[in-house]
Amino acid sequence: MPYLLALDQGTTSCRALLFDKKGGVRAVAQEEFGQHYPQPGWVEHDAAEIRDLQLRLARQVVKGVDQGEIAAIGITNQRETTVVWDRQTGEPIHNAIVWQDRRTTGICARLVADGLENHIHTTTGLRADPYFSATKIAWLLENVDGARERAERGDLAFGTIDTWLLWNLTDRAVHATDVTNASRTMLYDIRLGQWDDTMLEALNIPRSLLPDVRPSSGLFGETSLFGGSIPIMGIAGDQQAALFGQACFEPGMAKNTYGTGCFMLLNTGSEPVQSENGLLTTIAWDLGEGPVYALEGSVFIAGAAIQWLRDEMGLLENAAESEQIATSVESTDGVYVVPAFVGLGAPYWEPNARGAVFGLTRGSTRAHLVRATLESIAYRTRDVLDAMTADADLSLASLRVDGGAALNNFLMQFQADILNVPVERPASVETTAWGAAGLAGLAAGLFDLEVLAELREVDAEFEPEMDAETRNELYDGWRQAVGTVMIHSSKPQRKRSEAVR
Ligand code: ADP
Repeated sequence: MPYLLALDQGTTSCRALLFDKKGGVRAVAQEEFGQHYPQPGWVEHDAAEIRDLQLRLARQVVKGVDQGEIAAIGITNQRETTVVWDRQTGEPIHNAIVWQDRRTTGICARLVADGLENHIHTTTGLRADPYFSATKIAWLLENVDGARERAERGDLAFGTIDTWLLWNLTDRAVHATDVTNASRTMLYDIRLGQWDDTMLEALNIPRSLLPDVRPSSGLFGETSLFGGSIPIMGIAGDQQAALFGQACFEPGMAKNTYGTGCFMLLNTGSEPVQSENGLLTTIAWDLGEGPVYALEGSVFIAGAAIQWLRDEMGLLENAAESEQIATSVESTDGVYVVPAFVGLGAPYWEPNARGAVFGLTRGSTRAHLVRATLESIAYRTRDVLDAMTADADLSLASLRVDGGAALNNFLMQFQADILNVPVERPASVETTAWGAAGLAGLAAGLFDLEVLAELREVDAEFEPEMDAETRNELYDGWRQAVGTVMIHSSKPQRKRSEAVR
């Protein structure tokens, strides 16, 4: 039986999984690593720690398996997180700057002041936001002693985590990334398929720093770190890997991942769709026949709101309990929770928004609050899906879901009701890692797309049951609540500027 080794390098943990070619998990190892917060709004990882941990976990799951039985390796990774290292010593010049890190807000403001906002949107598909890698690289070159000179001499290399792992796995022979990761740097022209000179010049980033960009499925290199020689044949960023793992191969198919945040991706086929409604345009994958594009809606707080109920509010013992508490009442009785704890992402992009609760009465209970918080996750998803259907001019046949909070049956039923779209939950929850394994297995010739689509098993299907009037009424209430949060978010600034005047 040939196996596929998936390396799943996430934001809080590294995982290694050994799959058989039908998607069955033969072995899995997972461990968390250090999170560093040197200042408010800054988030860093030790890239050397990630490398060592990821390799150790991989060795753990391949133990006892003849390396000849491992057909290929697939890598999936937290996206945008930025590593710059010395090509000679192999060591990072600084901690990795994580996607959540907001330190480059000022550099983004500079890009906007330079009139680059529209260029960024049309060329890279993204927005001038610290979320992406480009300004993180610029920050490292500007702030690490000697980095600028070393970069000019060609001594340094940049990579997202996939690139950093690949370089180490191949004993420093291969400095490459795949198109999905490149499309999150804010340096990559997603239409022409090349690094963009305008962005490189604007941020003063030497080209010598950048990796080769390759299709997501195909031979990247070989590793001998697990004995013998095993080809690395698949790479994709985590959300794209989940889209692939969910077999959303056709245009018009979408998946939503309910983890800490919610990330919805819609396959839009071989043509990029430029969003007029606050979404990102990104590359879904390239199987060697040119890029397939996706629209993406990123919601920063989803399952994290349930953690907040549990840890800060003390309303829950554990996340799973939220289901039974929510269903102990018939409705929220008009209560809305808007969990805009770190601002609002797609499609609003209001970094100054903060959370709020609306509609409290003397009779409001814990159950109403818990239910309203779960419902807010479904409403945020509707916000994003409405933007997607407007941009792509389509109606969704079904939504494929995954992530920890997708296990909540109440949430999934309410999601189907509020979208008026059926929700499909797969039997295997390992969609991200399986996506990476799938890209590798495809290149290794273990299966084709048709077989991959057939391997997918549905665990539960949630059909919309709510009548249109109730749906519209509930969603109108949500829009009002969000509208109020948006107005409130700009108030302190208005006051400040009035005071100055
Ligand atoms: P991540 O990969 O972002 O860490 P996971 O996919 O592991 O996230 O999902 C964990 C998140 O899902 C947590 O925020 C948790 O609060 C939430 N969660 C887990 N189980 C449930 C549940 N049964 N109902 C609602 N939320 C849940």
